[in-house]
Amino acid sequence: MSSNRKRIVILGSTGSIGSSCLSVLDGLQDRYELVAASAHTQWQALAQQARKYGLEKVVLTDPAAAGALAEDLAGTPTEVLAGPEHLIDLAADKRVDVVIVAVVGSAGLPAVLAATRAGKTIAIANKESLVVAGCLLMPLARQYGATILPIDSEHSAILQAMRAGSPDEVERVIITCSGGPFRGASPQQLAQASLEDALNHPTWEMGPKITIDSATLMNKALEIVEARWLFDLPVEKIAVLIHPESIIHSMVEFCDGSIIAQLSPPDMRLPIQYALTYPGRRDCPARKLNLTELRQLTFEPPDPDRFGALRLGFDVARRAGTAGAVLNAANEEAVAAFRRRQIAFLQITELTEQCLHDHPWKQEPSLDDLLEADRWARQRIRRLVPAAARATPAGPP
Ligand code: MG
Repeated sequence: MSSNRKRIVILGSTGSIGSSCLSVLDGLQDRYELVAASAHTQWQALAQQARKYGLEKVVLTDPAAAGALAEDLAGTPTEVLAGPEHLIDLAADKRVDVVIVAVVGSAGLPAVLAATRAGKTIAIANKESLVVAGCLLMPLARQYGATILPIDSEHSAILQAMRAGSPDEVERVIITCSGGPFRGASPQQLAQASLEDALNHPTWEMGPKITIDSATLMNKALEIVEARWLFDLPVEKIAVLIHPESIIHSMVEFCDGSIIAQLSPPDMRLPIQYALTYPGRRDCPARKLNLTELRQLTFEPPDPDRFGALRLGFDVARRAGTAGAVLNAANEEAVAAFRRRQIAFLQITELTEQCLHDHPWKQEPSLDDLLEADRWARQRIRRLVPAAARATPAGPP
């Protein structure tokens, strides 16, 4: 095995993206050596990974189960660390070249900032970090020479398509969207959508938070903001197109009218691998596309009247500042309330919108301002939830 392999860590290695990352890394062993990983609570899976890959360090961010993990790994060379602060140690470690950030939610932000300041190559599946703090992250990346690469199928597609022209030749990017489980639903059906309905995504298998975001189309709203920062795009150059088959993962339209699209079956292993081989390519374990089997691809315009989250996404991308932090935090809290069956499906977006409307917006926030906006939005939603629950005519599902 070549000794100039890059040393890589995965933050969030036991979730759905984390597992796909491991499967991709298994095929890239000549290039990468996995040296550390983290999980939130799943200590058994993390212990297994520590043994399989001979990890130097593991971090369990929820300290409650850290004792069990340490006991399990006693006598092995793996160092066990407990608490979210250690994600920063892993992300900024001098002996680490590449950091994959696959933790869920804004909890990933401090580690992303640390990796950016340390000038790392960061493969980022944690779109929340970009949504919350893109206004700080992207300038920091330029300042410290960090490379931020997306592990989001849409943004990977855009990154790939962008190579067909120069940034000033881009007319617009077209972010595709499956439409989620409620694509054809009536307003009445949306009002009565249950948690089980929302968790039943037609084309992608993902964790519960992002699956619900895909049902409200809030995931697309977050991706609009993500694209705005990753590719430094004015909001006028970002469009959303419903594409139920999830085969075209996004497109870039250039000034001459050419549209360059990236097509593949919905499988996260391809965008993960592209981030790790960028700008090159390698054989990939992901399924290959058979166009003759597929026969047709369909498209529809999005409906922001039924899916208000889309409007919020464009609005937040335009306003920037603290708006991204509020959008993300308010939505996280509202989704949590929906998962506890405290509010109805449509109230996820309604409460988030109210929060955005009420919040004291700042145009050029510091990190403290962003964290404060995050706290403010969570508190606000927690206050809004009980009244919203009472106001639902049908009651929560
Ligand atoms: Mg995506």
